Amino acid sequence: MTFAPLQIQWPEGKKFAFTIFDDTDASTVANSAPVYAMLRDLGFRTTKSVWALGAEQPPVVVGGASCEEDDYRTWALQLQAEGFEIGFHNVCCHHSKRGRTLEGLRRFEEIFGHAPRSMANHTGCRENLYWGSDRVTGWRRWVYLAATLGRKSRFVGHVEGDEHFWGDVCRERIRYVRNFVFPDINTLRACPWMPYHDPLRPWVNQWYASSEGGLLDSFINTVSEENQDRLEAEGGACIMYAHLGKFFRKSGVVTPRFRELMERLSAKGGWFVPVSTLLDHITAQRGEHVLTPRERAALENRWLWHKLRHGES
Ligand SMILES: [Zn+2]
Repeated sequence: MTFAPLQIQWPEGKKFAFTIFDDTDASTVANSAPVYAMLRDLGFRTTKSVWALGAEQPPVVVGGASCEEDDYRTWALQLQAEGFEIGFHNVCCHHSKRGRTLEGLRRFEEIFGHAPRSMANHTGCRENLYWGSDRVTGWRRWVYLAATLGRKSRFVGHVEGDEHFWGDVCRERIRYVRNFVFPDINTLRACPWMPYHDPLRPWVNQWYASSEGGLLDSFINTVSEENQDRLEAEGGACIMYAHLGKFFRKSGVVTPRFRELMERLSAKGGWFVPVSTLLDHITAQRGEHVLTPRERAALENRWLWHKLRHGES
């Protein structure tokens, strides 16, 4: 199966598109504000996810600040006013039953004025949609289970009747949900069909993929000089998946290598808009895409192979 790059015309004569979905794990004003000041000054307008609600129990993997904290909420609103998108990463850092998810979404809308448009599941949360072995279909599910030795729990946000079910609400309110992450900087080359609807996963309106940048090292590898040049030459689109609050600050200073790469990318003058703006544009150019069985198999094979070899998201 070949993955031919899909040519999209970017607005304002830009040659390529670049954005980030920032997973809010471990994020605080102190560790994230310097990164956002840099992104803003360099002209990037990306997507920052938040937790609308504070924790009521220990986090399943990692915690971080929530919009219940005044300084964090004020800062998130300031980012929104500056043109950043506020995205969704479940309602908080631990499992949430349906009632709490609904409460968190209501709170999100109250704070930011509208429902979130883009989201990513927070690893480990039981209410995740189509997560764990449900990210793949058929025989791949068995390979996934064998590779993870059945360690991963079941995720049931899409399972009607379960107390964690909220698929209907997700479909009603949220447009874009992340699934596969690939090492290619050109997310659109790795996943030429995004955003797409998958008829086997009906509670999600549209899926998008991302490029790997969860760890500082993987971010730096993915946005290397060579890869930036290729993204530009291919006229592609990059949606980096990152934890900006975890890795990019040392005593209020943005890691120099990260800054250097982002400055270089900024100078290329790509289209630097939030995740949902970027995905809306692709849909406007190409129409809504429904994933075929053959395309699904190609995506799942590609992702599973990468995951088995490298173990990242
Ligand atoms: Zn997370």
